[in-house]
Parts: sequence; C-alpha cells; structure tokens
Amino acid sequence: MQSGSKHAHSSPLRAAIIGAGPSGFYAAGQLLAVQEPCFSVDLYDRLPTPYGLVRSGVAPDHPKIKSVTRAYDKTSRHERFRFFGHVELGREISREHLLAHYHVVCYTIGTSIDRRLGIPGEELRGSHAATEFVAWYNGHPDYSGLEVDLQARQVVVVGAGNVALDVARMLALAPSELAVTDTADRAIEVLSSSGIEDITILARRGPLQAAFTNPELLEMGELERGDVEVIDGELDELSAIALEQADKTRRRNVEILREYAARPNTGKPITVRFRFLASPVELLGDSGGHVRAVRIERNAIVARDDGALAARGTGNFEEIPAQLVFRSIGYTGQPVADIPFDERRGLISNEGGRVTDVDGTHQVGEYVSGWIKRGPSGVIGTNKKDSQDTVDKILADAAAGRLNHPVSDDVETMLATHAPHAVTWEGWQAIDAVETAAGEASVPGRPRVKLTEWDALREAARSVLTNPPRR
Ligand code: NAP
Repeated sequence: MQSGSKHAHSSPLRAAIIGAGPSGFYAAGQLLAVQEPCFSVDLYDRLPTPYGLVRSGVAPDHPKIKSVTRAYDKTSRHERFRFFGHVELGREISREHLLAHYHVVCYTIGTSIDRRLGIPGEELRGSHAATEFVAWYNGHPDYSGLEVDLQARQVVVVGAGNVALDVARMLALAPSELAVTDTADRAIEVLSSSGIEDITILARRGPLQAAFTNPELLEMGELERGDVEVIDGELDELSAIALEQADKTRRRNVEILREYAARPNTGKPITVRFRFLASPVELLGDSGGHVRAVRIERNAIVARDDGALAARGTGNFEEIPAQLVFRSIGYTGQPVADIPFDERRGLISNEGGRVTDVDGTHQVGEYVSGWIKRGPSGVIGTNKKDSQDTVDKILADAAAGRLNHPVSDDVETMLATHAPHAVTWEGWQAIDAVETAAGEASVPGRPRVKLTEWDALREAARSVLTNPPRR
C-alpha cells in the first residue's frame, strides 16, 4: 500500500479516528466530505456509545445542547463511515496496530481527568472531583458505582467555570425538573432526596476573571428552588480599569453578577452564593474522616509582569462550613498508549494538530484534534474549527505524499483478533432503542433512561455484536 495523492483514483485512504466525541465526529465528517483524495473513516471509542462529552458531560437539563448529535448521526450514515465502540486504545488495540492499518490516525480522546487542588484534605470523604460527579449523573458506566452522599446542608464548588455552574445547578434542581431529563436513574434518586440548602461557588479571582459564559450564568438567576447571592463581587481597582478593554462575555458577566448582588433573598429553599477572591487552602475533616469545612484564604488581585491579573493571598483566613466539596478547576489529559505526551500541558505533543515527538519531529500519519490537542477550553462548536485545522494539515500532507504507509488493509481481522466484542453503529442503535423505549415508558417527556452498567450496555448491543460488517 502506498499513500498520498497517488491514491486519489484508487481505493480510499483509510483514516482511524480515536474518540467519538465532538472533535472526532467533526474530523470524520470533514474527511468524508473531501473528494480528492477520498477517505474512509473508522471512528473508535472505548465506550460502546458515541458522542463523548455530549452524552457524558453536557448537563442533562440542557437537551438543546445535546441535539448537536443530529449532525453527528448524519456523518454516521455516510457509506464510508464505520463506528467501533468498546475498543480501547492502549488495551485491545495499540498504536502499532493502527499504524499498520491506516494512512491517517487522528486522536480525539479528550482530557478526561480532573485537575487537583493540591491542598491538604482533598482525600476526605465528601470531597469529589466535579468530573466524576458529572460522569455519575450522566450515567457513564465507569462511575455508576460512585458513592455520592448528598445528605449535606452546605456545599462548596471550587472554580468559576461552566462545569462549576453545571454542578451547582444540578444540585439545586427540583425533583420535577430532574425527572424529565436523561439524568441516570440512581442520580435522580440521590439528587431528589438531598438536603442541600446552601451552595457556594468559590472563585479565586474576581467577577471580571470568571470563566462563565453568559447564558449559563443567567440560568443561575432563574432557578425554581434557588436564590442567588454574591460575596466580594465588587471590582478591585485593576479589574475596574481592565473592564474597559474586556471582551463582551466578561463585561456581561460583571453586569449579571452586579444584578445578582442587588437581589433580595426571596426565601427559596436553596441559596446559591458566588464568592469571589478566595482560594481553598485546606479541607478540614471531622473525627470520622468526612469533610466538615473549607479553609479559605482571601485574595487580592495583582498584575503580573505580563500584565495578566492574578490572585494573591492576603494572609486572611476563614472557614466555610461544608459537608460536601466539588473541585471544578478544569480537566487535564493523560498519556495513552505510547503517544508522545506533553506532561507540562497535559496534552498529546503536537504542532497545530500534527503529533510530534520530543524534538518536534512530526510522527508521520498521526494527528490530534479537540481538547487533547489544545486543552479543555471552548464550547462544543469550537471543536469544529479545531478539527478543520487538523484536517487541513492531513490534506496538505496527503498532497505532499507524506501520509503513513500501512502494511495491511485488513482492519476486520485486526478487530476480530484483538477486539471481537467491538460495538458497531448498529450495536449503538440497539442500545439507543432500549434507552429511548425506557424513556417513553418512564415520565412523559423523558428522552431516555440511560444504561449505566457495562454489562447492560453489552447486553443491549449483543444482537449485533458479531464481527464488524465488511465494506
Ligand atoms: P474552566 O472554564 O477552565 O474553569 C476553571 C475554573 O477553575 C476557572 O475559574 C479557574 O480560575 C479555576 N481554577 C483553576 N485552578 C484553580 C485553583 N487551583 N484554585 C481555584 N480555582 C482554580 O473549566 P471548566 O469549568 O472545567 O470548563 C471546561 C470547558 O468546558 C470550558 O471551556 C467551558 O466553557 C466548557 N463548558 C461549557 C458548558 C456550556 O457551554 N454549557 C458547560 C460545561 C463546560 P482562573 O481563571 O483563576 O484560573
């Protein structure tokens, strides 16, 4: 097998995309849309289900955001597209397997683990990573057994990003609001019986530096069961100057938070409090090893040498009572298989989407897109442009005859040997049918009841768990 533009008029160039989240689907759709050279795409995922964070990250009460999967389903109907779920890179199949069979391998595996605060007490019971909590309420099969005790009155969510808002909002939703979502059954049960009265979103910097987006911040002011409150939300001198030059989103965030600060408490059962200029320095435990409070240090805003506004501790400490703490300070990637990894950035080493080794040399045939390429930032649509940039590199390399030279085109035998349990698109559709039927049989309007156990997912897909169909 040869590679490059010479293939334009023969059989398609084979691309494997690893990770069936938004960036994987965008890259697949973009490659399939190219006429010359022509590509076939095999999209792999370690889960038997596609859509990545759209299924297991986007909050269940945001069905409109989830409807982006319709565009991905269109891609799935392309005749040169195949899906192989329940196949894990680094476990069933290796990087070598992929490079032996594909002209292009594109990693779109996301940044799946939480960043840690690195403070004492982080391991206490009642202290969780937001990433785990989010995966749990979204029915991710790796987290179905997570023990989340919501019999707490006071909760602290550390971080001022959209994930912190998702967590706070999910904790504040009324049982009737939860019931019509695809939140995992077990999570609905636990969330509906929680005794939470007080949720503090803790931001180390000020309102101008918060990473919220406007619609998500506005939603917090419309909670059926929650009043909003703001502490230390006045802009410091440096931020007041920076406000003039700030982008629209940040300026609007400041306005929204000012309006929240002026609101009276209306006696709703839950208070959602935005507390600015405070960093957690320790989680304090009770005698049973359960978190009882967060010790915080109040911060001031200072200008760094590069002009950026940063938080600096003032030496004033305080305790916020909390029986439950979520750290929501961003995600990071982890090394997979032996793909070159940039430990400092927590990403696959790459230059504009081309995977590079330590000395910056492009690893021929290997590409990357999405969060594992640029870091966990932006909204779902951001990945469309990101994938297009990577696809443009692939096309440039194809034109220059610089793609990988696979030694075999027998993907079917590779899968039959190493991943005989692979779930095809038909397998996913079987899972989808089970879940949506259960949704219909549940509360009116509930889109699906997710299967949250590996065995149940395998069982539902089993009718088509045969060897992958040949093209
Ligand atoms: P994020 O937007 O990067 O926010 C992380 C927050 O953690 C920032 O406020 C950051 O503060 C803070 N932080 C970092 N290190 C900290 C530390 N050591 N102590 C205290 N605070 C710390 O991350 P995210 O919320 O995980 O969201 C990830 C991406 O997904 C974002 O692009 C987000 O917009 C997107 N998302 C979108 C939606 C939606 O559109 N509905 C929903 C969920 C997520 P500093 O700024 O001071 O570093």
